[in-house]
Amino acid sequence: MQLKENVLNVKERIRFACERSGRDPKEIQLIAVTKYLDIDQTKQVLDFGLDHIAENKVQQVLKKYEVLKDQGTWHFIGHLQTNKVKQLLGKFDYLHSLDRFSLAQEINKRAKLQNLKVQAFIQVNISGETTKSGLAPEELLEFVEKVRLLDSIRIVGLMTMAPFVEEKEVIRPIFRRLRELRDEINDNGILGYTIHELSMGMSNDFEVAIEEGATFIRLGTVLFKGKV
Ligand SMILES: *Cc1c(COP(=O)(O)O)cnc(C)c1O
Repeated sequence: MQLKENVLNVKERIRFACERSGRDPKEIQLIAVTKYLDIDQTKQVLDFGLDHIAENKVQQVLKKYEVLKDQGTWHFIGHLQTNKVKQLLGKFDYLHSLDRFSLAQEINKRAKLQNLKVQAFIQVNISGETTKSGLAPEELLEFVEKVRLLDSIRIVGLMTMAPFVEEKEVIRPIFRRLRELRDEINDNGILGYTIHELSMGMSNDFEVAIEEGATFIRLGTVLFKGKV
C-alpha cells in the first residue's frame, strides 16, 4: 500500500495548494476513502493515524464498524437508500450524501427515536451529470428551508463531485459554485445558523478543490495506489 510515502506526498500537495491560495493546511481535513480496502487494511490506515475514514456502501460499514468502531471518525459518502437508514444510523459521524427530502425525513424520524443528532452535508449536483446524485442548485434553497424544520438533523455544509476530467477549467467553476451556494445560504440566514464545511475534491482534483475553499477532501486512489 506504501501508505507512508503516499500520505507524505499528498500532504505536501495539500500544503502547496494552500500556499497558492493563501490558506492554512489546518483548515483542511483529509478523509481517507477506505471503500477500496478490507477490514485489516482499513485498520492499518487508522493505526497509521489517518483518523477520518469514509465508506460508500452500507454493507461495508456494518462489517467494518463492528470491528473498528472505537477508532476514527466515520464518514458515509455513498448514495443512501431510504430503507437502509435504520441499519446505518449511529454508525457514522457525518453523512455526505443528503440529496432528497424523503431521505431527510426518514433520517430525522429514526434519529429522533434513538435520540441522535445527525450531522449531514447536502449533496449538490452542480455539473448536471445524470449519473451523479444530488440536488440541482436551483432546488437548494427551498430544500434548506424544509430541512431546517427537522430538528434531529444538523446541516454542516455542502458536498459535490466534479466530472472526472483533466481540464481544470471544467472542474474549477463547479467547486467555486459550491462555495458560492454555501455563502448564499449563510447570507440569506435561511438555516438559522451558519454552515462552514465544503466537502469537495477527490484524487483527481483535490488541489483545485482546496484552492476553491474545500474543508474536507475525500481521497482514495492517491493514498492507496499512489497514482490516479
Ligand atoms: C470513491 C469516492 C471518493 C474517492 O475517490 P478517489 O478518486 O479514489 O480519490 C470520493 N468521494 C466519493 C463520493 C467516492 O465515492
